[in-house]
Amino acid sequence: MVWSCDRCTFLNADGGLTCSMCFSTRTEAKDFEGSQWQWRAGDIWIPYDLDSCGLLERAFQEKRVSRISLEHGYFAENPGYQVAFDRTRGRHVQLNTCSGGTRSVRRLAEDDPMLFETVSTLGASRGICSICQLDLEQEEASSGQVVKMIMCTGSEPHLFHRSCIFQWIKINVTCPYCKKSVIL
Ligand SMILES: [Zn+2]
Ligand SMILES: [Zn+2]
Ligand SMILES: [Zn+2]
Repeated sequence: MVWSCDRCTFLNADGGLTCSMCFSTRTEAKDFEGSQWQWRAGDIWIPYDLDSCGLLERAFQEKRVSRISLEHGYFAENPGYQVAFDRTRGRHVQLNTCSGGTRSVRRLAEDDPMLFETVSTLGASRGICSICQLDLEQEEASSGQVVKMIMCTGSEPHLFHRSCIFQWIKINVTCPYCKKSVIL
């Protein structure tokens, strides 16, 4: 199914998460299940198409694989692009093997320890989740559903429901409180 861009109304091909005309991220990107992979263009992160996300995630899970060639969507017609994994620091890189150019790549996943730290005890400063505006409950924290983002610093941790903040970062680059960027 083709989809129409919210911003410029361009009709895009099936499976894409980014408008090929204006490069804005498709709104539904936040609703797609599973991990998402994105590459960086200046200040913005652009999601790979769904097939490429699947390919990247499968290769990433196979710990022996250090690099793969991209072959779906845009990359089917434009071969020569590879992604090299950095499982230690999460700083993956896309390489253009023709020009030698590189781009930063990030993996967004609900359980990624590079992004989220599980907070199992809320204590006095439990507060609300700033995404859904609901109270954070100790019961939710005990079952692993409350997290803070690794890159947030400062004395007061910013806490969220895991699924809420995961949806948020799929279409936003920064923490909604302190504006720290998700993987620099
Ligand atoms: Zn557009
Ligand atoms: Zn929430
Ligand atoms: Zn923050």
